[in-house]
Amino acid sequence: RGTEAPVPPARRPRLTVLSGPSGVGKSTVVAHLRKAHPEVWLSVSATTRTPRPGERDGVQYHFVDDEVFDKLIANGELLEWAEFAGNRYGTPREAVQQRLEKGEPVLLEIDLQGARQVRESMPEAQLVFLAPPSWDELVRRLTGRGTEAPDVIERRLAAAKVELAAEPEFDQTLVNTSVEDVAAELLALMGIV
Ligand code: 5GP
Repeated sequence: RGTEAPVPPARRPRLTVLSGPSGVGKSTVVAHLRKAHPEVWLSVSATTRTPRPGERDGVQYHFVDDEVFDKLIANGELLEWAEFAGNRYGTPREAVQQRLEKGEPVLLEIDLQGARQVRESMPEAQLVFLAPPSWDELVRRLTGRGTEAPDVIERRLAAAKVELAAEPEFDQTLVNTSVEDVAAELLALMGIV
């Protein structure tokens, strides 16, 4: 990148990927982390899913239709993308690269397939797996959200079973016993506190 001085290896900004089964509490952990540290930048994904009550376009997600999502893929604008429970989700590449080039830490909250793609394209990324305290607890959380139809819950449970088996592929595992503890551990892994 031309005139910019190279960042010494020890201080190279890291891309941190938080992944784990649906319903494990990834977005709750991230919301908690950002309340205490609003300066931590979180990538806003594009999705073809319809917004849940309270979700706003450009905040939780960029809500787009299939046609727009196709274009994002075709134009190479996504760092990674995956189909999850019947919808597509992807990380806009440009915003992530800009942050990393500025030396700022970047956090992605994405599904397992996306985490694998990031591992391929950015081997220096730190992959963090958020695990539920137990399978029963995960079922309870997925069922209790109350915003999804039974068939959607079924699909998410099936996906969660596959995702739990992927834990050994990750650099770190955090068990979601308490939101506060996990958020603090994640900040530490990102080198922020
Ligand atoms: P939800 O519909 O519950 O918001 O998200 C469903 C799943 O999609 C979650 O596991 C979430 O982490 C994942 N997800 C959200 N954004 C992205 C993304 O940009 N890429 C990938 N691969 N997964 C994502």
